[in-house]
Amino acid sequence: MSMDEIYQQLKIKLHDVVPDFELKYKAELAHEINQLKKEKNAVILGHNYMEPALFHSIPDYTGDSLELSRQAAETDKDIIVFCGVRFMAETAKILSPGKTVLLPAKEAGCSLAASITAEDVRNLKKQFPGVPVVTYVNTYADVKAETDICCTSSNASAVVESLNADTVIFLPDEYLAKNVAKETSKHIIFPSKNGIGKFNNDMDYQLIGWHGRCEVHEKFTVEDIENIRAQFPDVAILAHPECSPEVVEASDYSASTSAMIKYVEQSSAPRYLLLTECSMGDNIAAANPDKELLRLCSVRCPHMNEITLEDTLDSLKYNQYVIDVPEEIRVKAARAVERMITIG
Ligand code: SF4
Repeated sequence: MSMDEIYQQLKIKLHDVVPDFELKYKAELAHEINQLKKEKNAVILGHNYMEPALFHSIPDYTGDSLELSRQAAETDKDIIVFCGVRFMAETAKILSPGKTVLLPAKEAGCSLAASITAEDVRNLKKQFPGVPVVTYVNTYADVKAETDICCTSSNASAVVESLNADTVIFLPDEYLAKNVAKETSKHIIFPSKNGIGKFNNDMDYQLIGWHGRCEVHEKFTVEDIENIRAQFPDVAILAHPECSPEVVEASDYSASTSAMIKYVEQSSAPRYLLLTECSMGDNIAAANPDKELLRLCSVRCPHMNEITLEDTLDSLKYNQYVIDVPEEIRVKAARAVERMITIG
């Protein structure tokens, strides 16, 4: 696709989101990236939270972290450029050890992934011996390596139930864990970091959580929802399961980012409000010009925001930043991720 074709395509989709002079500049960058991508036999994966001009110009595949990991596992390209955050690029490396995986911005982290360490998981396993451990994919490779099975926001309850266990350790997102507890009718407890001996066999609990939070989704409140409904009584409100259980309860629908996209595409509400990362709202609005999406979002993930077209160009030019996972950790983490993938 020529630079002008990219510009025209961006203009159709993003004319009311991105100023024209910026679209021209971004189309130039996207053109250069796409050329280099071919020369280097690379594939670009773009998470749903990428900024609109990047999202609609350079990725070969877009989606949530699980969909993109699957693409990473299946690609025959030599290089995978992951436009997302570090734990996602690590998951790609776990599933495709023979490929070069690049993360365009070194600092692209995640508050959830940073909330727990492999040592924390080992301590929990000592505290609750024999209890299987489920971790959300939003964790680093060494944490995944300590766990029995991973999950995503779309299959968390199914993964917990697949274990057929009396008790399950579910890490690290407090709100996702509470939402899963509610959905599966389980009672949840939250041990303190060093609270060994605090819980005993007489207590009634089936889920053991952790106090990790997504710094984006924890910001939405029931009050936000009430204010919007007062203004727009016919709005369909969609909340990500990393939002608090109270917010999820007050919403009309709760699901992963990809399921939210499908919901908007396949339903016919007069208008929608997405309680998730802002760029995703812009991306869905651009892809569904016939739908009305309320643009009231002000919560941008600072980590996703690190990934720009400029960084992605440099990533391909200078082969940066290479993601490595030590083989011993990778093998164990792959087991947990692959087990999750078989559940779907
Ligand atoms: S949106 Fe939340 S869960 Fe996703 S990368 Fe940002 S901080 Fe992490």
